[in-house]
Amino acid sequence: MSNLFVVSAPAGCGKDTILAGVLQKTDSAGYAVSATTRTPREGEINGVHYHFLTVEDFKSRISNGEVLEYTEYCGNFYGTLKSSVDALLNSGKDAILKIEVEGAMNIKKQFPEAKLIFILPPSWEILENRLRGRGTESEEKIRERIAQARTELKFAENYDYLVVNDKLETAVGDILSIFRAESLRKERRTELLGAFK
Ligand code: 5GP
Repeated sequence: MSNLFVVSAPAGCGKDTILAGVLQKTDSAGYAVSATTRTPREGEINGVHYHFLTVEDFKSRISNGEVLEYTEYCGNFYGTLKSSVDALLNSGKDAILKIEVEGAMNIKKQFPEAKLIFILPPSWEILENRLRGRGTESEEKIRERIAQARTELKFAENYDYLVVNDKLETAVGDILSIFRAESLRKERRTELLGAFK
C-alpha cells in the first residue's frame, strides 16, 4: 500500500531543491507531474517538470474528470492529474504532490490519509531576503510575492509535518525520515500483524 505525500512551501523556501535531493536518495517515491497553463521556464521539460497545456486543454481535462484538484495561481492554472498519481501508486511507489496550500487542503479532504508536509524558511527575515534577492524585479512585484508568502505561511498549522530549510541535507533527511516512519505504520504492515497471529 502506497502513501500520498503533499509538499507545500511558499516561493523562496527551496522546495524544488529539497525534493530533487529527496528523489536522488530514494526509489520508493516519485513526483506526480502536475499540469499547468504557464509557459515553461528555461530548462523545464514537458512531461517531466509539468505537463504544459493550453487553457483549452486544461479545461477539457477538468470536465473529463481527469484532474483531482486545481487552482489558479499568479494568473495560471495548476492541477493534479489523476493519471500521474495513479501511475505512481499502481507501480507501488509513494506519490509526492508538490502543490500550493489550497490544493493541499483539497487533497486532504479527498484523501484524509494523505500526509501533508510544509517546508518553512529558517526565519521570516531570511525568506524576505531570498525573495528580494531573486533578481531585478520591481518593488511592487517583490511586495506581492512577500504578501503571497505571508498568506501561504498561515496554512502551515493545517499540515501534519513541518520541515525547516536551514541546511539542505537536514531538510532532505527530515523528509526521508517522514517517508520511512509512514511506511512503518502498522496499517501499512498488515502482513506482519498477520504473520504472528
Ligand atoms: P511554479 O510556477 O513556481 O512552478 O509553481 C507555482 C505554485 O504552484 C507552487 O506553489 C507549486 O507548488 C504550485 N503547484 C504546482 N502544481 C500544482 C498543482 O497541481 N496543484 C496546485 N494546487 N498547485 C500546484
